[in-house]
Amino acid sequence: MDNKNELTKTLCPYCGVGCGLEVVAGSKVRGDRSHPSSLGMVCVKGATILEALDKDRLLYPLYRRSLEQTFTRISWETALNLIVEQIQKILDTTGADAISLYGSGQWQTEDYYTAQKLIKGCLGTNNFDTNSRLCMSSAVSAYTASFGSDGPPACYGDLELTDCAFLIGTNTAECHPIVFNRFRQYYKKNPHVKLIVVDPRRTQTAESANLHLAIRPGSDIYLLHGIAHLLLKWNAINEEFIHRHTTGFSEYQEIVKKYHPQFVADICGIALEDLIQTAQWWAESQAVLSLWSMGINQSSEGTAKARSLINLHLLTGQIGKPGAGPFSLTGQPNAMGGRETGGLAHLLPGYRQVLHPEHRREIEVHWQLPAGQISPQIGRNAWQIIEGLEDGKVDLLWICATNPLVSLPNLARVKLALRKSPFTIYQDCYYPTETCEYAHLLLPCAQWGEKTGTMTNSERRVTLCEAFRAPVGEAKPDWEIFAEVGRRLGFSQQFQFQTSAEVFAEFVQITQNRPCDMSGISHARLRQLGAIQWPCPEGVSDEEAVQDKRLYTDWQFYTEDKRAHFGLDQAWGLAEPTDREYPFILTNGRLYGHWHTQTRTGRIPKITKMHPEPFLEINALDAEKLGITDGAIALVESRRGSVKLPVKVTPHIAQGTVFMPMHWGSLFAETAEVNQLTHPIACPTSQQPELKACAVRVSLAD
Ligand code: SF4
Repeated sequence: MDNKNELTKTLCPYCGVGCGLEVVAGSKVRGDRSHPSSLGMVCVKGATILEALDKDRLLYPLYRRSLEQTFTRISWETALNLIVEQIQKILDTTGADAISLYGSGQWQTEDYYTAQKLIKGCLGTNNFDTNSRLCMSSAVSAYTASFGSDGPPACYGDLELTDCAFLIGTNTAECHPIVFNRFRQYYKKNPHVKLIVVDPRRTQTAESANLHLAIRPGSDIYLLHGIAHLLLKWNAINEEFIHRHTTGFSEYQEIVKKYHPQFVADICGIALEDLIQTAQWWAESQAVLSLWSMGINQSSEGTAKARSLINLHLLTGQIGKPGAGPFSLTGQPNAMGGRETGGLAHLLPGYRQVLHPEHRREIEVHWQLPAGQISPQIGRNAWQIIEGLEDGKVDLLWICATNPLVSLPNLARVKLALRKSPFTIYQDCYYPTETCEYAHLLLPCAQWGEKTGTMTNSERRVTLCEAFRAPVGEAKPDWEIFAEVGRRLGFSQQFQFQTSAEVFAEFVQITQNRPCDMSGISHARLRQLGAIQWPCPEGVSDEEAVQDKRLYTDWQFYTEDKRAHFGLDQAWGLAEPTDREYPFILTNGRLYGHWHTQTRTGRIPKITKMHPEPFLEINALDAEKLGITDGAIALVESRRGSVKLPVKVTPHIAQGTVFMPMHWGSLFAETAEVNQLTHPIACPTSQQPELKACAVRVSLAD
């Protein structure tokens, strides 16, 4: 590539913090000091990313007629013909509902947008979901229900303006390290600032806190309602804000009245004084910022938990002002871009809804498609795609840039379903991954550094990720693959793009006058000004474009009555409570160095040395009762699977709860000697695909 010897500005392709990176001469990476989100900081994942680019890459299309056969190399021409034939056959027989696509927050916005246009627009099915379903869909639903629109209201600048940071369900120090570094630097210099961390484990994040609330898994809503109960009792609420800018307060008040402090403290397993202290700090602080992540979102009551947290901000008017607001941290580098382009089965681009007739029509007009082309029905979500395969209703599954054979819940069931799939396309950069085993057609795609496109981080900041090397082998950018399939299916008019800049230009037009208005952003402007936060409508000056932006500064919301709505949820507790047979609650999470299913980080020696194997954390008293010692191999069984792995005995996890990291799949079990996994680890769930914890039994492995 021409810029091989130059400095390339881009974004770290791992977590949603979205750290700016500079790649020097295509061979060295460092933090970009000019990037407003990360200010030059970078963690081990970003710092080692270049080491993962050339290892075990999928270089050309591979095909096999059945899963029992071995793959054979085929040309792109043959691969594209196969896809078009399969799609055409399905459209002519069963119809578009038999097609499903499962995408990824790893995609760039241009990939997302082109895929949407093909599947939801041209083919007319909303069976388009992504792995963001597993992490961010609860936040999307909560924001939408409370404010009338998705979109995190705060920005990273608020980390350095708050008086009280309330972190719940997020091990920020390990999972979003640069966000935590920003806050920690400020926190150390400002002793008046309080940090409250809510987590069943004493994580690195909790170690830094003024107050650690080690609540029992599943008791989050009790805690949040308990705080509200005290704030109401002390009248430490913002009556004017509630009166002028919210609805549902009376009903909410009736609900939280029942959450008496002692009852809440007992259910949560915390001291009453700690509950009172939390409420006091919330009440006394001028600006309260709450951060949350998978511990809230990845739950059968994820939306209710997030709404209960947002309620506290509504109760106290802690929103739309410096240092305050509810702020969900995204797990993936472009989960936000996925939301903006409509990357869930109920969404359309520009924060529009499938169920909204005007929204469908606006998109049809923009895409030059006939009225009624976009299906009025919400499509299959991630788990419904699996159910569709089980029922024989999905004839073509297209999986892109994700590794669901590690990350989906209830893997035994997922594997059986995938075995029934008549035709599975798997589009990814790496080979092998656990998912390759279940595909008929493998398509190599260009990865980070090999294509130019945009990503949006947790604080709504859009960064241009420039290519600095050519794609390996015959790999192609995902958006080009979708556009080519679209053209071959007869939609030449819709896919005239020559560059990703053209794709982006078309996309941002569709966001005009929407909450996520990006019509003032282009590849050229990002190149000139650096990363830009939305909202950034057309016509915004350069000076304004680069300023920090927070939402709802006028306390006008996107609901029809312009008011924020209190959520009226009761606490349900765990979807799968413990019993005599399964007496432990299993939680899972990330480690500092690894990323999700290790497709990249598992190939980087520095990181594998840092985290060589999975483990089970168990409280010392539980271990003693079970006769398990540190380093012993334990058998952990749930109702859906089992795994053998080394035990770490620790005082840092509450009795009755165990923890294991989420990163190790069967690929590592087969190759690592020390690792005795018999089943891949994933978010272990039952019928609900979004459960954080479930009951397990733990015993010594024989
Ligand atoms: Fe990348 Fe996240 Fe680390 Fe930043 S904090 S370098 S975005 S993994």
